[in-house]
Parts: sequence; structure tokens; C-alpha cells
Amino acid sequence: MVTNQRITAEELDFKQVVDHSLNAKLIIDGTNVLYVNNACLDMLKVDEEMLIANGYKSYFHPDYQEKYENSVARALEGKRVELMEQKMIRSDGSLIDVEVVCAPFYNKGTTLVQVIIRDITERKENEKLLLQSEKLSMIGEVAAGIVHEIRNPLTTIKGFLQLIESKDKSDQKYIQIMKSEVTRIEKIANDLLKYSKPKVESFKVENIVEVVQDVLFMWETEAFKRKITMEFAATESNIPILSEKTQITQVFINLIKNAMEAVDNQGEGEITIEIHKSAAHVFIKIRDNGYGIPKEMLDKLGTSFHTTKEDGTGLGLMVTYNIIKNHNGTVIVDSQLGEGTTFTIVLPIEYENRKMESSF
Ligand code: ADP
Ligand code: MG
Repeated sequence: MVTNQRITAEELDFKQVVDHSLNAKLIIDGTNVLYVNNACLDMLKVDEEMLIANGYKSYFHPDYQEKYENSVARALEGKRVELMEQKMIRSDGSLIDVEVVCAPFYNKGTTLVQVIIRDITERKENEKLLLQSEKLSMIGEVAAGIVHEIRNPLTTIKGFLQLIESKDKSDQKYIQIMKSEVTRIEKIANDLLKYSKPKVESFKVENIVEVVQDVLFMWETEAFKRKITMEFAATESNIPILSEKTQITQVFINLIKNAMEAVDNQGEGEITIEIHKSAAHVFIKIRDNGYGIPKEMLDKLGTSFHTTKEDGTGLGLMVTYNIIKNHNGTVIVDSQLGEGTTFTIVLPIEYENRKMESSF
């Protein structure tokens, strides 16, 4: 028996391939469902009879119906339609985010439409979390900055209150109230600072290569959508550092977000991430071929809320610099206007692990 013989397309029963595909697929004639695969039924939580009885259109979110109908009409004319993001409604009423492609399907002289649907709910959730975590860490940093500013005048007020207390015996009651209120503000401020700064105990040994790869994975689809190429290279697969994982993750989220924004709409956007190490340090380089940073701005990076973007906050780099400082690291920026920017993060490698490594 010949086992590795090639089979021609005509000999293959493609229905089996489609039946078991992970993507949801439907074949329609514009109005009726002629075929639906299991993935589609699973995704919408319906059985075949129910789908046919209800009509597949009812599973598309009303806001997207028109866009969807247009795509079907174009496909019926034999044109391929671009990928679109839509929302669908399952039979239990829950919403899912999907990507839909409609393509013409020629069958025995008639043009039908094949609808290919991919569930991207999880990806959408990840994107939301990504933004959420950026906002949270920004709020933390802003809080820390404000608290810092509040503490100095409070110390002055407290000092003078003590002075008045010892000199003026007439209004003791008011002075006591003022003192306790100042103490209360101080406590609130200190608590706020405690929450916004990572605790030293929460620093753990983390593999920085994996942290960076996880962030790249999160940005992958976004980069793909914006037609940006992302390259990654690391000289080792495990480089241990001592860090607060959510914070250090935030650094790379911020830097890659900035890099993507810098190359966006410039065409041929390219971002490369390289990791290498010396005896004591790990270097993570994030290079983009975007619009670059003007010389006069370079020195101020990470110290003020400076932004050149319409919807920017100028917080991303502040947060980044602060986190790296808390990790005993440094940020080096190299940029040429119109050519691109390289951010290099230098962090100390976790010593305990280096000792272990060299003792082997
Ligand atoms: P935001 O992104 O909200 O503007 P950031 O603190 O992240 O705030 O960045 C501050 C500014 O630094 C940006 O507005 C931009 O002008 C500049 N910048 C940061 N990263 C890059 C980069 N990779 N390329 C070009 N400019 C950058
Ligand atoms: Mg930013």
C-alpha cells in the first residue's frame, strides 16, 4: 500500500475538511442556509434545524446587519469582501465578537456565498484588559505624584499648628481638631502611596524573555491589523530578573504601543525587539522605523506629561521610567527624526540565579 501518495483536489471529500474546521462556516444563497458546519452551530449554541428555522440573519447583531447584507450582496456578484469585525448574538442571548469574511462560492453554475466566521471574543477581552491595566498603572503614578506634592505643605501646616498650640492657649479646641484633620489627610495620602507603589515583597524572579514575549503576543493581532511587522530575537530563552510582573509588563506594553503609534500610517512599519545580556545586565531593545523624537524633546522624556498626540496623555513614558527606576534599571533612548527610535531597557539580572547557573 502506498501511504504518502499525493491526492488530487477532486479526489478529496472537502465536506469532511469543512465539517471539522475550527472556523465557523455557512454556505448561503443570499436568503437560505444551504450548509452549516459544527463549529458554527457550537459557536451560536444552536442546532441545525433551529438555525435554518430562525434564519441565520437573526444571529447578527442589528447594528451590523446592513454591513453584513452589503458583504453578502458583493460576494453574490463574485467579489471577495474584506474581513469585517462584527458582533453576533447566540441563541442564549449572549454577545460574541467575530470576524467575518464573505466570499463567492461557485456551485454548478450558480454563485453562492460562503460565510467564514471566527470568534474573537477572547482577543477583544485581552485588548480591553491591556488598556485597563495601562490606565490603572497611570492612575497609580499620578496619585503617587500628587501625594508627594501634598506631603510637603502638610508638614509645614503641622509644624505651625504645634507652634500655635504651645503659644496660644485660647483656642485649643480648634487647634486639636485641625491637628487631627491634618493627621487624617496624611494617613490618606500615605495609604494612597502604599497602593500605588509596588511592595518590595511582591518582587519575584521572572523570566524577562517570557514577559516580553507575552506582551508581543498581546499586540500581535493589533500589529497585523495595522500592517506592522514585528520581529523578535533573543540570545537566550531564560534571563531571570527580580521584578513585579504586572509593572514590568506595563513597561513593554507602553513602549510597544508608542512604537506602533510612531510607525502607524508611515507605511512599511517595522518594530524589532532584541534581548541580549552581559554578565550582570539584560538589555531589551525596542526599535521602530517611525517618525522619531526631536532632539529638544529627548532630554525631557519621562519627566513631564508631554505628548505630541491628539489623544495622548504623556503618561506612558512617565510610568515606564518610574517602573524601571523602581527595578534599579535604566532607560536609554536613541532617536533620529524621520528615521526611527530605539528604546533600550537595562535591568540587573537576578544574582541568585546567576550563582546557581555558574555552579553547574
Ligand atoms: P502618549 O503616548 O500618550 O503621547 P507617552 O508618555 O507614551 O505619551 O509618550 C510621550 C511622547 O513621546 C509621545 O507623545 C511622542 O511624542 C513621544 N514618543 C514616545 N515614544 C516614541 C516613539 N517610539 N517614536 C516617536 N515618538 C515617541
Ligand atoms: Mg504612549
